[in-house]
Amino acid sequence: MKIENASISWLASGLPYSTQFQDIYYSEDDELAESRHVFLDANNLQQRWSSAAATSSFHIGELGFGSGLNFLQTLELWQQCDERPRQLHYIAFEKYPLTLQQLSRIHQRWPKLSQQSSALIAQYTDHSEGCHMLLLAADVVLDLYFGDALAALNARMSESCPAIQCWFLDGFSPAKNSELWQQELMQALAASSDNSTTLSSYSVAGKVRSALKNSGFEVFKVAGFGRKRHSLFAQKSDQPAAASKENISATPWFDLAEVSFQDKTVVVIGAGLAGCSTAHSLAQRGWRVILTEAGSDLASGASGNSHLALRCRLFNADSSEARFFLHAYLFACRQFQQLQSQHDIGWNPCAVVQLANAMNKRRPLLQENLQQLYSEQIVRRLSKQEASKQAAVLLDEEAWFFPQGGAMQAAALCRSYIDHPNIELKLNTRISALSRNKQSWSVAAGSEQFIDADAVVIANSYGAAQLTQCQDLALQLVRGQTTEIPANANSEKLASVVCGARTVFPAAHNRHLISASYHLSDSESPDLEPHSEDSTENIRLAQSNFPAAELLSSNAGADRVSLRCNSADRFPIVGLLPDTEKMKTTYAALSKNASAKFTTRGHYLPGLYVNIAHGSNGLASCPISAELLASMINRENLPLSRNIIHSLNPSRFLIRDLQKQKEN
Ligand code: SAM
Repeated sequence: MKIENASISWLASGLPYSTQFQDIYYSEDDELAESRHVFLDANNLQQRWSSAAATSSFHIGELGFGSGLNFLQTLELWQQCDERPRQLHYIAFEKYPLTLQQLSRIHQRWPKLSQQSSALIAQYTDHSEGCHMLLLAADVVLDLYFGDALAALNARMSESCPAIQCWFLDGFSPAKNSELWQQELMQALAASSDNSTTLSSYSVAGKVRSALKNSGFEVFKVAGFGRKRHSLFAQKSDQPAAASKENISATPWFDLAEVSFQDKTVVVIGAGLAGCSTAHSLAQRGWRVILTEAGSDLASGASGNSHLALRCRLFNADSSEARFFLHAYLFACRQFQQLQSQHDIGWNPCAVVQLANAMNKRRPLLQENLQQLYSEQIVRRLSKQEASKQAAVLLDEEAWFFPQGGAMQAAALCRSYIDHPNIELKLNTRISALSRNKQSWSVAAGSEQFIDADAVVIANSYGAAQLTQCQDLALQLVRGQTTEIPANANSEKLASVVCGARTVFPAAHNRHLISASYHLSDSESPDLEPHSEDSTENIRLAQSNFPAAELLSSNAGADRVSLRCNSADRFPIVGLLPDTEKMKTTYAALSKNASAKFTTRGHYLPGLYVNIAHGSNGLASCPISAELLASMINRENLPLSRNIIHSLNPSRFLIRDLQKQKEN
């Protein structure tokens, strides 16, 4: 999951030179004019945007993001055009990202792009493989895929994403970087394109032209820039690409049929973090959202603790789960920083110190593995002294340190998520049933009130289990009691969140929050009353984080109990809900032969989504899950890979059950 950064030296002109590839990043004559000529003008962007002004989005893909020059110029042109589609979605691939420092130094050369550069630099991430979704403006998304372009394209769920309408091929010269021009990659581009797609490059090398022709592009030599006689322009032909993807995948139960919506209306059930973040992501995309909440206020469940800690859930080995939590964390860090710059969302970027031995006793985190997997910007190991310095109080253990982590007042975040003209909040509204009309859903709030909407997102944690369509989801309830204690002259020095047997937050309003006890709970009659023994245990375990016994006061203030909802595999459940009975019938053969082959794709309930089971990680996992769902619903590029999306898919449990019957 770590990634190697670019190795560069600086030319006398001030431009970067790749020592990995022994090649220049751009023409030394005039890199701005070259980029404009070869990429923006060749693809006729301005004219195409103007004729597509009524459409929802325009998708551009780039191989070789480098310093982002082509992106910055595209963004500048986009901002100058009065007539354009609703959204620009730029999808760029980069194997060796420049560091933030290198990128910023290069951008200094282009004062005319300073505004666009500042927007990019504010969010640019220079580490970690995978897709970094940067929401640069209300109408501009940059999905920056770090890793080898072919691997990233193959990992992308392209069949569920809209076609890329224009490709910029900007690798180093094919003679020095053949990998980025290979036939297989051109076929992957073709598979992600449609018949309106155009493509351009500065290279007219014979191999490049034939790789493109063999992949279903018509290729033309056009006037080059400066001293170069030619550059390349290509147009996807009507022919299907030689190796176009099979419609049915190896995991057909996860293949989703395209859903189209008429009115962009959605009911989101549950106004905790999952529901509010989903409402926010959909409202930003122009959806009219009715957000319903059974309780009398938002964030009244597990999201309502006075503070939640933001840190990355760590794993000893690479997996879809590890990648999900890594990107969830990074997205949350970016989103909170961006929202906080606009108004107070209750975010305290005070960093998080996780004591190395106090947690994960059953499955200890292994230093060597973590250091191989995670970049230092995500997490690093601190000595006792460094940890104490960071926390500003004495600690007796080495620790894992999350420099971008912090403490969030989740209720304030929820309020700011839904502060949007497209969102209507309905409190004291318990949803009892959902039924499908011809093209829409009818949501019953009691026996008299019905709300009709194109789509529904069930985001009410374990409350989902009350709805027929969710009854087969394997949910577990965890009772958590938090305790607040008064701060004292010693404890108020605590500067970071410290996670150990309990999590202790820096003082706010002269109180520390201690979170939380953990007891599996009965779902029929959960116990929501605070227990004094849990309170005593919380304080005792919180004190055990610190060697100085007197650091935390033993006087309990307020206690609060909430229920967290986990799935059977402790991974969130996010996506379209399956039609369970049809799935079981279609894939029944799995119970006899776990590797049986099928030609039928999964059966899903069109327009009915779920976003639950975030356990105690919801602060990190809700924002990206909301973006994923909103991207699915609005049919945009999906910001997570196919494997991650499959790991979140609500039908995974029923498929596993079928496969397990085989083993039994
Ligand atoms: N468009 C860039 C800009 O505006 O700065 C210049 C791109 S530079 C000529 C080529 C880029 O391709 C480099 O940043 C390089 O790291 C990247 N690259 C090379 N091989 C790659 C691969 N297999 N997958 C993705 N990116 C690759």
